Amino acid sequence: MSFRATVLTLYPEMFPGTLGQALAGKALARGDWSLDAVQIRDYATDRHRSVDDTPAGGGAGMVMRADVLAAALDANAGTDDPRPRLLMSPRGAPLTQARVRDLAAGPGAVIVCGRFEGVDQRVIEGRDLEEVSIGDYVLSGGEVAAQVLLDAVIRLLPGVMGNAQSGETESFEGNLLEHPHYTRPAEWEGRTIPEVLTSGNHAKIDQWRREEAEKLTRDRRPDLLDG
Ligand code: SAH
Repeated sequence: MSFRATVLTLYPEMFPGTLGQALAGKALARGDWSLDAVQIRDYATDRHRSVDDTPAGGGAGMVMRADVLAAALDANAGTDDPRPRLLMSPRGAPLTQARVRDLAAGPGAVIVCGRFEGVDQRVIEGRDLEEVSIGDYVLSGGEVAAQVLLDAVIRLLPGVMGNAQSGETESFEGNLLEHPHYTRPAEWEGRTIPEVLTSGNHAKIDQWRREEAEKLTRDRRPDLLDG
């Protein structure tokens, strides 16, 4: 059983988007994961097929209706669906590599993309939506955020990354940022490659990489070391 993604959005034509290319796209074509982009508007019931309305209490913008979104969720991810239900939201828990690993180990995800000012609070509570943020900035919609999350998950699915090892020393694994990389040519604009990397001494190379990773993390993201 491969990873199954269902995305609820007002813009299904934005999918697979970036996920249709390169690593994720090839994995999609192979069937390592599947994607269903659902048009929320198809579940609107009034004459104008409206999905949003003005905010209770007044103020700017529009809010996505609880009843329409709930109908879309119920039709595509019923109560017996084992997949986590995520709502992309700047108010959510910041996405981490640990959460990404968790999701990749599971059966898939149901992902709601917000638009406008966001969604009616009652559907978040009534359908147990887990709010997930991709960072402290505001996007115009959840579609790009959903693709960020899925991209991070898909590359970890079995068989997707060619070199399984490249997942293990990467940034955020073991609370460290990754060491610097070099490749040919040996000299470029007067800059050479650190000698140890061409020494062939793998113990020394491992040690150098470890030290560089620690130095980089201490300089740039000391918060990771406390974690
Ligand atoms: N008024 C809201 C922002 C709405 S932005 C607020 O101030 O919190 C519209 C939609 O874009 C959101 O519903 C969400 O689905 C998506 N979005 C915006 N920023 C995001 C972020 N940092 N992470 C995840 N989704 C985000």
